[in-house]
Amino acid sequence: MKYIGAHVSASGGVENAPLNAHQIGATGFALFTKNQKQWSAAPLTRESIDLFKIRCREFGYVPASILPHDSYLINLGHPAAEGLEKSRTAFVDEMSRCAQLGLDLLNFHPGSHLNAISVDECLARISESINIALSRTEGVTAVIENTAGQGSNLGFRFEHLAQIIDGVEDKTRVGVCIDTCHAFAAGYDWTERDGVLFADIAEGGKNDFSAGYDNLWADFDRIVGLEYLRGMHLNDARKPLASKVDRHDSLGMGTIGIGPFRRLMEDPRLDGIPFILETPEPSIWPEEIARLKEFAG
Ligand SMILES: [Zn+2]
Ligand SMILES: [Zn+2]
Repeated sequence: MKYIGAHVSASGGVENAPLNAHQIGATGFALFTKNQKQWSAAPLTRESIDLFKIRCREFGYVPASILPHDSYLINLGHPAAEGLEKSRTAFVDEMSRCAQLGLDLLNFHPGSHLNAISVDECLARISESINIALSRTEGVTAVIENTAGQGSNLGFRFEHLAQIIDGVEDKTRVGVCIDTCHAFAAGYDWTERDGVLFADIAEGGKNDFSAGYDNLWADFDRIVGLEYLRGMHLNDARKPLASKVDRHDSLGMGTIGIGPFRRLMEDPRLDGIPFILETPEPSIWPEEIARLKEFAG
């Protein structure tokens, strides 16, 4: 069983998200529990929380099928004390909001070194930020998303994700979300092209990113561990492999193509987690979801 849905709007209140998800035929969904472009938000009201839970029950959305996403402003690896503190406070608030809604997961982008600290130092800060958040909240797992490697964002290599997890004390409450577009933009090739590898992209000019669906998961399992996978973002890519540019496309319309999405849906190792579309045409989400469900059988 795979939970298949999209990152739906929660405008007008979080209680609208399960409704919006149900209307597009989704069996899982993602949402922002507050305005993702602002630092602070009014606390969730009792009415909102209750209605959210009632609707999730009504439409059959269990916590494992829901993957909330945090604010884009948060940088848990911020090089400056003030920015780091602000981010950590906001992240604890986001975790608490998820707990209030009875949710298990919070998906976030790991962080950026802003060219002011080393990669190792930034990754260590991210681990410490997760430790702080876990110690101040209960029940919610911090789900680290891989990135495209745009700018100074970390998390574009499986090794980054593994290093962050390594620094987390409570490994039962940390997980990973793999975004297909981000992985492709970072240099991981989901597509099969007769063993033809991509251009010189990795640090030191070494092509050491995995290529091919099976190799990619074998490397993920060896470096991070499949048991940490708690969700996926399903997006085709607008830019070529290893572009390091994060531009999503509708499934089958971009540089990844439909093939790998079919394989993901057919892969029994990936059962029990949410697959979330963040594709750019919400009007075709019902068709995209229907197609994925068909692939999943
Ligand atoms: Zn994503
Ligand atoms: Zn993205």
